[in-house]
Amino acid sequence: MNFIVSFVQCVCEKSSSSVSGKATYHEEMASRLLLSLLAISASALAADPNFVILFADDLGYGDLSVAGHPTIRTPNIDKIAAEGIRFTQWYSAFHVCSPSRAAMLTGRLPIRSGCAGSGPTGGVFPETAAGGLPLNETTFADLLKKDGYATAAVGKWHLGQREMFLPTNRGFDEYFGLPYSDDMGASAWTSMHNGVPLPLLHNTTVIEQPANLGTLTQRYADFSSDFIQRNKDNKFVLYMAFSHVHTPNFVSKKFCNTSIRGRFGDADTEMDDAVGQIMTALKDNGVDNNTLVFFTSDNGPWLIKRLEGGSAGLLFEGKTTTWEGGVREPGLARWPGRIDAGRISSEVVTTYDIFPTMLKLAGVDLPSDRVIDGKDMSPVLFNDDGKSAHDCLFIYKGTPNTKMTGLWAIRCGAYKAHYITNTHLNTTAVMHDPPLLFQIERDPSEQYSISSDSDEYKEAMAKITSAKEEHEKSLTQVPNQMAMGSKDEYKLCCDPDSKKKYPDYPECTCNPDNWHAWTCDA
Ligand code: MG
Repeated sequence: MNFIVSFVQCVCEKSSSSVSGKATYHEEMASRLLLSLLAISASALAADPNFVILFADDLGYGDLSVAGHPTIRTPNIDKIAAEGIRFTQWYSAFHVCSPSRAAMLTGRLPIRSGCAGSGPTGGVFPETAAGGLPLNETTFADLLKKDGYATAAVGKWHLGQREMFLPTNRGFDEYFGLPYSDDMGASAWTSMHNGVPLPLLHNTTVIEQPANLGTLTQRYADFSSDFIQRNKDNKFVLYMAFSHVHTPNFVSKKFCNTSIRGRFGDADTEMDDAVGQIMTALKDNGVDNNTLVFFTSDNGPWLIKRLEGGSAGLLFEGKTTTWEGGVREPGLARWPGRIDAGRISSEVVTTYDIFPTMLKLAGVDLPSDRVIDGKDMSPVLFNDDGKSAHDCLFIYKGTPNTKMTGLWAIRCGAYKAHYITNTHLNTTAVMHDPPLLFQIERDPSEQYSISSDSDEYKEAMAKITSAKEEHEKSLTQVPNQMAMGSKDEYKLCCDPDSKKKYPDYPECTCNPDNWHAWTCDA
């Protein structure tokens, strides 16, 4: 581009030596060419970026090779880190699936949308849930679609399986995936009698039941690549929510027993391969340089699943807890030419920052009628000295009693206070008065709590207490969606009369062969 501009300038300078005072042919052509080039250049600079969110399920802080896992290899995900920025203090909003996803899609803490779970454990939407992400919540897809973006959701949804709650009614033009977790229905990988057969949806239609999980990840990658190809001349947002590495760790034949980490490693590697295919599709379709890619996960590793679950690395605990291992996630972002390659940032960012960051970059206003908890992270993405806009993070879990909102921990600056804790093995809520306090940057494993008699404790807790009071003032009471319960009539079923056709198989079977599909037996 610079070469062409110089050439045009050169022609202009030569032509302007004409003494006639009239524009010569060369002058005219050169000025037209220059104007066209400036227009192209301006539109390239002003073009809204595409967005790709690669979202893993239950992937721990330590489950990537770039994070130091000794026996898992994730070369394609590691490449995103090498070509972009890797965050070491990236948080999800919650320690389990549905609330974390509600926050990412809305930019709001799940307590604000009634998606923070009920009861002492928090919780997720069951497969026959009456509720879902409330319809008065606005997703980034709603707003970007209105701005002309093509929008697709692929993979796990888990924000309500009733038609009104499905992605195509929440701002996404297209959807292909499992409406909830891969263990929330029966399949060849679980048991024929493990509840409703696992449905696979295209938009709002069940196209396969039970789903054939052995081919699922490749179909996720194919759908994503095809979406990119179809929208390469448009602007687009692709939300690719993998079913990996949630249990059961299903895989295709290609990845069966390939990782020395075992079946979890196989699943992690299969997800990595799909990530590689999607990144290749961006390059092959010429949109790589105008696409911001995020990679992260919804919550920490499911430790109670032992070897079938992941690892939080040096962080303490995992999924179902508000310790760091439950909520701190791998976090990567890549945008060639905009984000410098190979950066590592310790700034505090969150999954719900994706919402305001995308809107800012797309030039779309944030909703003004509600609290948005996420912060635009572009100063951190694009500048070496960019700072996090978060003063404090408010970490929720279920409501241990009727008097408590479910606010279990708060991180302000380098300090994290725990008001209530549990562990994955002991779900009983333990109240801490005075709160436990850790200096989380010096003590990321939360091993050495600070003495409540110390000046350091008093100073840090004064700030946290004041932030807590301000935060609690901003809360309004909303109906708890997970307390709406579930009903059998809300289950997804390809054919309520399937028993007439396939009497030997569970109700809602439309693909009897899939009960006998190949599985990776060790
Ligand atoms: Mg999860």
